[in-house]
Amino acid sequence: MGCAPSIHVSQSGVIYCRDSDESNSPHQTTTISQGTAATLHGLFIKTDAAETIPSVITYQSRHSRNNSCRDRKENSGGHVRIEAETQTSHTSVKVSSTEECVGPMRLTQEPIQVLLVFAKEDSQSDAFWWACDRAGFRCNIARTPESAVECFLDKHHEIIVIDGRHSRYFEPEAVCRMIRATKPSENTVILAVLPQKFVENSSVSACYNELIQIEHGEVRCQFKLRACNSVFTALEHCQEAVEITSEDHIIQVGHIHVQQCHSLRHRDRRKDSMDARSLSSRGSDAPSLQNRRYSSVARIHSMTIEAPITKVINIINAAQESSPVTVAEALDRVLEILRTTELYSPQLASKEDDPHTNDLVGGLMSVRGSQYLKMLHHSQLAIPVTLNDVPPSIAEMLNDEECWEFNILELEAATHKRPLTYLGLKIFTSFGVCDFLNCSEAMLRSWLQLIEASYHSSNSYHNSTHAADVLHATAYFLRKERVKSSLDQLDEVAALIAATVHDVDHPGRTNSFLCNAGSELAILYNDTAVLESHHAALAFQLTVRDGKSNIFKNIDRNQFRTLRQAIIDMVLATEMTRHFEHVSKFVNSINKPMASINSDCEGQANIRNSPENRLLIKRMLIKCADVANPCRPLELCIEWAGRISEEYFAQTDEEKRQGLPVVMPVFDRNTCSVPKSQISFIDYFITDMFDAWDAFASLPGLMEHLSENYKYWKNLDEMKCKSLRPPPPS
Ligand code: AMP
Ligand code: ZN
Repeated sequence: MGCAPSIHVSQSGVIYCRDSDESNSPHQTTTISQGTAATLHGLFIKTDAAETIPSVITYQSRHSRNNSCRDRKENSGGHVRIEAETQTSHTSVKVSSTEECVGPMRLTQEPIQVLLVFAKEDSQSDAFWWACDRAGFRCNIARTPESAVECFLDKHHEIIVIDGRHSRYFEPEAVCRMIRATKPSENTVILAVLPQKFVENSSVSACYNELIQIEHGEVRCQFKLRACNSVFTALEHCQEAVEITSEDHIIQVGHIHVQQCHSLRHRDRRKDSMDARSLSSRGSDAPSLQNRRYSSVARIHSMTIEAPITKVINIINAAQESSPVTVAEALDRVLEILRTTELYSPQLASKEDDPHTNDLVGGLMSVRGSQYLKMLHHSQLAIPVTLNDVPPSIAEMLNDEECWEFNILELEAATHKRPLTYLGLKIFTSFGVCDFLNCSEAMLRSWLQLIEASYHSSNSYHNSTHAADVLHATAYFLRKERVKSSLDQLDEVAALIAATVHDVDHPGRTNSFLCNAGSELAILYNDTAVLESHHAALAFQLTVRDGKSNIFKNIDRNQFRTLRQAIIDMVLATEMTRHFEHVSKFVNSINKPMASINSDCEGQANIRNSPENRLLIKRMLIKCADVANPCRPLELCIEWAGRISEEYFAQTDEEKRQGLPVVMPVFDRNTCSVPKSQISFIDYFITDMFDAWDAFASLPGLMEHLSENYKYWKNLDEMKCKSLRPPPPS
């Protein structure tokens, strides 16, 4: 009797039962009798009173989708039907809404809905049927447990009467359990009809009395509770101003006028939908009321600014109103996902067992606890240089600058670890940056020296060679036809400056480390995008500090603001916690729409040139430039992998030394497999992003290198080799 306790035995003590299956005419009534409820508490006594039933019993929905919403009663050959006739001539009772008050709220309650679960119609079901008719309730009859549940999920009846007399057709306990397993049943009173031995009661009046008692008892309580619950939930989730008005829209103080709460029953199945529209719209069966409600809600909405996500949620809610239950439930799940904040972070479930991926993701994308640590700062002195002073060997090297295979490591060596200044002069000049900024070459040189000196040459990876490498990739991407035709010169200048400064003063430790160590920077930036915020802020501080390196000195205020905004946005975009957000937005707003209008060049140009999409292109550009090392020629790729691994190892060493949490345990110099770490990095961060960027900018050379490098790491891993290169042949 698993569900017995949830079956209602009426307070009046009336338990319905019958002696025979002889159907009473709906027009006949018999006298009211009362039974003794106590002895039946939660038990069903089975009889064999049923006759044969139709072999196929199906429930037919009250509303076929395209049909009117009038209730009707129709018997369709052996199938179940089932509607209370509420508006036809022989019904004496007018179905009308009643008004309930809960404190200051006036709630309009729709007619009660009753579901009769009777395998066979007989005098008992007829009695309930006509009792509903008399009380002005809407009534459905279902003949099978399945149709009962289906019907219940559609209508959310307030009262369910289950025929418990004929176990041959279904177990009443099972029906009860099925209904109780559904969410809306918490608001429903379930009544059992038990077999004979007690009182004959197939009288309409008896049934009527019972239903009315239930209505005034539990059903109203439930209704008020649901109303309160809905109002409080709506208020809690409401991010907009709530205007409390009278019916005439006169603003009240301390008075909430809830004009229509019909929707509460429908809202149960979308309990998470908190926007005002879904709260106050009912669905297709009350169009006039819906319009009335909508207009008052629209008034509230017109006063507020809607976030795009709110608009999306509203559209989905509106679609739910006219959707079948299965679709509405699927949309509920969609809404649940949309409401989470981490929309763009993939869940790592499938890769949980890969420690390299976990560590990289944990180390690059999350923030841990906090303790205090003072950061060491290594500033380097600038070495004076002019473009004319560039030694011929370096000048010759720089001639290859436009080629992707340009060897930045040779430049690093030739310039004594000052590649950024030399490459910067060359690239900035080729993009006409001095002309755009109206600054002298001496000013640009001085600025480049200042920025380069603020990189830490002691870092194995995050030094000025990495900045020069990113600047090189940025210039390479900016010269690609698609990119060039999407951006204007201000965008180009912003991208080149952003690339140059994007890791300035990098301490060679990750954001997670700085947060765990309670560094001054982590405290200053509240553990949020600590390094990237610092790079952007410091770049501007350094630039404007000294007139002779202030490359922005001669541009007008508006242009400076636009340029500054673009630079900050790009530097912040290099933060890995938002990696998936940037890539997804790029794909969804640019690649997909462009692919859908493949042959329409003008349409494609319009997509690329919109300000919002240019922003996404610039973010993607600097992100790809920042981590392009797996797409470089193999020798460069190997060197970069060695450098980043060494920087991570040094961090792990320091974490252990200082007793800090080890953010990326796989990057332990004694145990790490570099090939595995590179495979994970490429799989998780690089492949999808470069596929998308290649689809946009067309980069076959890079993709070729990427695939070759990936194979190289795979091959080493298969050989169980953990180092950068295979062991020399013995
Ligand atoms: P940034 O600090 O601006 O250079 O951001 C790029 C992130 O990607 C950094 O956290 C790097 O540590 C990481 N990264 C770049 N290249 C690699 C690589 N080959 N293997 C693992 N991590 C890398
Ligand atoms: Zn970087």
